[in-house]
Amino acid sequence: MSQRRRLSAASIGRLQQRFETLDAAEMIGWAIQEFPRSRRAVVTSLQAEGVVIADMAMELDPSIRVITIDTGRLPEETLTYLETLRAHWDRPIEVVYPEPADLQPFVASHGVNAFYASVDLRKQCCNLRKVLPLRRALGDVDCWLAGLRRSHSPARAAVPPVHLDTDNGGIVKLNPLIAWSAADVRAYMAERGLPMHPLYAQRYTSIGCAPCTRAVEPGEDERAGRWWWEADTDKECGINGVRQPLRIVEIAS
Ligand code: SF4
Repeated sequence: MSQRRRLSAASIGRLQQRFETLDAAEMIGWAIQEFPRSRRAVVTSLQAEGVVIADMAMELDPSIRVITIDTGRLPEETLTYLETLRAHWDRPIEVVYPEPADLQPFVASHGVNAFYASVDLRKQCCNLRKVLPLRRALGDVDCWLAGLRRSHSPARAAVPPVHLDTDNGGIVKLNPLIAWSAADVRAYMAERGLPMHPLYAQRYTSIGCAPCTRAVEPGEDERAGRWWWEADTDKECGINGVRQPLRIVEIAS
């Protein structure tokens, strides 16, 4: 494996300031210019934001890597939608899976629906089914792009446009849609004729694993349908590093 390219904290701090004034396409363009094709990737759970990022990136580099995680508990609609997107773009999407050897002891000890029993077990399940597969997928990547918006939830309100992903080896993580609203995302998808995940038509505003996602009621937070039985948690699975709001890095003047 070739050596990973790392940016210093000072470089990231400068980029954070610069990227606050760039639009999404400009940020994606920076990643495409800066990193070789094999060392950068869009990672998407096939929600609208990730599909937008992938589509924008393909406009600049039609062969850009697009990765998704099949946790083994996805709704059937998501798997069908994966095939819809593959046909729409007429190109491959890399699918990564949890390791059975990671899952088996957990399921044997706690059952197949352990996530309902406690926040700790829910986070362990997310770790085994999402975080570890992503870490393996990013083993040969120096820069990844995802679809976080600051308007998604209070936990994401301070997400920077770029930061070092220390959970995955200190690589660069880009969030080009931080300033977008849900309406911006829908408008882009309509303008580009992109197919929508079918669950959006059933009052889902955020879509994850089937047993952990429900439709929302009018007025509820966009991510209220994720792990809806949990009170006062950050509603995060751990792959985006949003345990606490990520802060803009201060750089020495
Ligand atoms: S969302 Fe639910 S089923 Fe999916 S990995 Fe997390 S806890 Fe497990």
